Amino acid sequence: MKVPQIAERAFYVKVLAGEECQCDRPKNRGKAFCYRCFRELPTAMQRALYRPLGLGFEQAYEEAVKWLQTNVCDAHDGSERLRRHRES
Ligand SMILES: [Zn+2]
Repeated sequence: MKVPQIAERAFYVKVLAGEECQCDRPKNRGKAFCYRCFRELPTAMQRALYRPLGLGFEQAYEEAVKWLQTNVCDAHDGSERLRRHRES
């Protein structure tokens, strides 16, 4: 597996402190993703996101964002995703 590009620590601090998920939906402070994104992730990735900053969270976050953008093709389009959820 290719090691993802890791950003500055400040970036992850902001991610965790923020109230907006990478998919633009609101999320809880202290969480990496909103519940919907988190739920889409494989269990191993969900577990990795509980690692503290500096101890693997950065890598876990990058992997998870990449996974979401690859496997959940409409991660950046909430309405499209909502439609799909309604249909299923
Ligand atoms: Zn999200």
